Formats: sequence, structure tokens, C-alpha cells
Amino acid sequence: MSTSAYDPNNIFARILRGELPAEKVFETDKILAFMDIMPRADGHVLVIPKTPARNILDIQPDDLAELAKGAQMVAKAVKVGMAADGLTIQQFNESSGGQVVFHIHVHVLPRWEGVALRP
Ligand code: ADP
Repeated sequence: MSTSAYDPNNIFARILRGELPAEKVFETDKILAFMDIMPRADGHVLVIPKTPARNILDIQPDDLAELAKGAQMVAKAVKVGMAADGLTIQQFNESSGGQVVFHIHVHVLPRWEGVALRP
């Protein structure tokens, strides 16, 4: 399989179809945000577009803009809700770039002074 192919049965596609459970925290017609199942910080949220896209290399620019807007909204809410000092935003592309689930997603990680991310 080409590394650029979108697998419609990836875990996040199945969450979007309601085939797998997720702890949803925010949703629009464009994006879904839900809690990461293996959080590297308390309040670790993932934001995904509802459109099928593997990663930054194939998502349409308009869909990427919607994802960025969704991530910004979630980041602001997470910072307040978790009383965080700051935030780390991460997005991985292809296996060599650290991507494990091949539906593009943005990690929103609340941060506190002196507190490291869990591995
Ligand atoms: P990495 O594992 O290196 O962070 P990704 O950027 O592809 O790679 O992130 C996939 C994320 O999806 C991981 O943080 C993982 O904990 C999370 N995850 C995997 N399965 C689920 C699930 N069913 N529900 C919520 N989060 C999930």
C-alpha cells in the first residue's frame, strides 16, 4: 500500500462513524475533539477533521484551516478547564515522523511549570 493512501478503517475513522467509543469533548460539522486514550498529560485532547485525510501531506488546505481553527478553540478551552500554564500542540506525519494513527490529528497537551509530559 502506498504511504499516501487513506485507510477508511483506521481507528479515528471508526470513531467518526460511531463504530468505536470515544470520550468526546467538542464537535462541529467540521471537526471532532476527544480525550486521548493514553494521555501524555492530564487533559490530553485529540482534534481531528471529519473529512478523510491521512496527514498534512494530503489534507486539503481549507480542511487544514478548519482543523487549525478547531484546535485553537479546543486549546483555549483546555487551558482554562485544566488551569494550565501553557500548551504543547503536536502533529505527526508518517511513521518516520511519529504518526501511529493514519487520520490526521492534532494533539492538544496542557502544560504546567515544572511538569514533564509522560512518555
Ligand atoms: P503517537 O502515538 O506517536 O502520538 P499519533 O500522533 O499517531 O502517534 O497519535 C495517536 C494517538 O492516538 C496516541 O496519543 C494514542 O494514545 C491515541 N489513541 C489511539 N487509539 C485511541 C482511541 N481509541 N481513542 C483515543 N485515543 C486513541
